[in-house]
Amino acid sequence: MSSHNQSWKEFNENPISHSMAHYLVTLRDLHASQGYARVSDVAEELEVTKGTVSVQMRHLKEKGLVVEDDNRHLRLTEAGQTLARQVVNNRATIIQFLHRVLEVDPQQAEVDACKIEHLLSRETSHQILALVQLLLSGDASAKALLKKLKSKRAQAAPEQRARPSHGPTSLERKP
Ligand SMILES: [Zn+2]
Repeated sequence: MSSHNQSWKEFNENPISHSMAHYLVTLRDLHASQGYARVSDVAEELEVTKGTVSVQMRHLKEKGLVVEDDNRHLRLTEAGQTLARQVVNNRATIIQFLHRVLEVDPQQAEVDACKIEHLLSRETSHQILALVQLLLSGDASAKALLKKLKSKRAQAAPEQRARPSHGPTSLERKP
């Protein structure tokens, strides 16, 4: 099997789905803001039913990412915290790269970051962050490169600079 197909198989076995990532981050945020998280808090935060939250929590508990105590308070395990932190870091890094380096519209940057936040490996995210930090360092050569990139972008076809969208990109829409 080719390594590309191998990564596709591994991708399908990704430890967490996108919605699981959002549940983990929500638990993290609730703990930071109020010190605890119940099923009802998560449901309110994500605007879903308590039944939906319970189903997701069962999956997360099975994966060893969440535990529930006698007061029915939900808590991230060490592994859960690590994953939640990684998702949050990935999101921040992608937004910085898309918005501050590539000057993608901030809303679009958020939408796109949301879509891949749970998929980036720690290694890749780390390398992108290093690149972002270098490019935004204010160093003369970095500034020159950003300027070049900006003028290159100005020459790009206007339809490539579409408004924020969840749908297919302008490239995918072409016949
Ligand atoms: Zn997301």
